[in-house]
Amino acid sequence: MHYPVVNKNGDTIASSMTNLDLHDISRAARSYGVRTFFVVTPLDDQKVLIDRIISHWTDGYGAGYNPARKEALGLIELKTDFEEVLEHIRSNGEGVPKVVVTSARPGCRCVGYGEFRKMIADGRPHLLVFGTAWGLAEEFIRSADVVLEPITGEGDYNHLSVRSAAAVILDRIVGKNR
Ligand code: SAM
Repeated sequence: MHYPVVNKNGDTIASSMTNLDLHDISRAARSYGVRTFFVVTPLDDQKVLIDRIISHWTDGYGAGYNPARKEALGLIELKTDFEEVLEHIRSNGEGVPKVVVTSARPGCRCVGYGEFRKMIADGRPHLLVFGTAWGLAEEFIRSADVVLEPITGEGDYNHLSVRSAAAVILDRIVGKNR
């Protein structure tokens, strides 16, 4: 999500995309069986740029050069806002997804990974949401069905990129060798 996210002053903003996020999150998504990787931005110039990157790898020269990357970036659906994402899922007949947000901020009404793995066995679609910039806006987090507990490493340094956080979180949810 590139909106609604916060900047370092806590203001709600629309952030710019990072090319590496498109590549790395789509490859993690493909590896861990995610059905669709939605990229959300309301900014028209960002959409043009993102579309150009995706189509280079799905229809352009990159598609023949690296078919594995074509398969991964082919999971991306570009949307203007979160409502469009929900509509996409509903119109595919997959039902109303449970919205599951991620955040590095401690002190949330959080669900741990063991509990969440049991929750997803209900067969309902689950929409895992990641922020960019300084993270998802508080109001968006409050509106979610589930807030996953922050992942922690060793020590108090807590500044993972969204693509690293996505890979770790997917592994905690569906990784086979936990
Ligand atoms: N301080 C921000 C926050 O509180 O979420 C970190 C933003 S980080 C650059 C971008 C995104 O990566 C976050 O919105 C979240 O989706 C994910 N993320 C980063 N670190 C995380 C962590 N320790 N636990 C869970 N998600 C994390």
